[in-house]
Amino acid sequence: MKRTVTALLMDWHLSINKRKMPWKGVKDPYKIWLSEVILQQTRVEQGVAYYEKFILKYPAIQDLAAAKDEEVFKLWEGLGYYNRCKNLLHTARYIVANYDGQFPANYEDIRSLKGVGPYTAAAITSFAFNMPFAVLDGNVFRVLSRLYAIFTPIDILVGKKQYMTLAQELLDKDFPGLYNQAIMDFGATVCLPVNPLCNSCNLQFLCEGYKKAVVNKLPIKEKGLLKKKRWFYYFIFQQDDKILVLKRTLKDIWENLHEFYLMETSEQINWDEEKVKDWLFQQFGMEEAKISYIFISSLQKQLLTHQQIKGQFIVVKLVSIPDNLKQHQWLDIKDLRELAFPKFINQFLDTRTTQE
Ligand code: SF4
Repeated sequence: MKRTVTALLMDWHLSINKRKMPWKGVKDPYKIWLSEVILQQTRVEQGVAYYEKFILKYPAIQDLAAAKDEEVFKLWEGLGYYNRCKNLLHTARYIVANYDGQFPANYEDIRSLKGVGPYTAAAITSFAFNMPFAVLDGNVFRVLSRLYAIFTPIDILVGKKQYMTLAQELLDKDFPGLYNQAIMDFGATVCLPVNPLCNSCNLQFLCEGYKKAVVNKLPIKEKGLLKKKRWFYYFIFQQDDKILVLKRTLKDIWENLHEFYLMETSEQINWDEEKVKDWLFQQFGMEEAKISYIFISSLQKQLLTHQQIKGQFIVVKLVSIPDNLKQHQWLDIKDLRELAFPKFINQFLDTRTTQE
């Protein structure tokens, strides 16, 4: 599967990817480094303007190194996290003083520069020097966790190691820069945090997260599992007298109990029928004609010892079961109450039974 994933990501990048950024394809390590430092803790849309201002004023590392502190800080204004700006100046001057103004061309030296972590070092070495170092940022974590249905939290040491090994194995060693750009752009435009475009994804057929209906739970963050407030949106798919039911296998609350198709988010979503239809299409390619009924519940809550669960239930009645939901368990509705569900779900099922 690994070779196929790499090839498909490269295919996508070369034939479909339209994401434009001013530093894309740039080979100058100074410019790549500058863009990466600006983008730490900054959204791309905001970062672009700053990158352009910096490049215009300081086209080469020597220009930045020779600039007055005050002047650089002024240009940085609005980006926040001023430590980044301090490190930027320090490193520019360090490279001019110690490397004759030439950016070092190997991973270890780049990694040892002030303010440069493993991600930035991998980005510079692969983009500028075509060296085989895989990047691992939020986008890559998300794509890998879903493609391989990895439940190890991304914010613990074993998780980081597991992901790093996989990222490195998947890397196209001939075109590391292109490949790194491909997987990051794929995460930023297709395998989105909320509402990934699974229906139009060219990797869907081998995506384990999609097959197991866990896309919207991944990636796992230990901090997330311990979070005090969580949003659970349950999609209850029905077709005639059948209902889609899944089992919770994750080391989390309600382990081994049953549930419906879950979308967990860290923020509230204001669902309405249109949004539900869009989501069903993006995730499963479900067309409106295949949906006979949608019901969106009111807000439901449950207080656990350390967590507050809030969310909604969205009942979707289908004319027929779409192919990409067929592999799940479709139970006779009359047998539903024989399974064990968490209280959060039982409460909702009780209200439905009394209504119907
Ligand atoms: S099918 Fe969905 S979850 Fe899987 S890789 Fe594609 S967009 Fe991401």
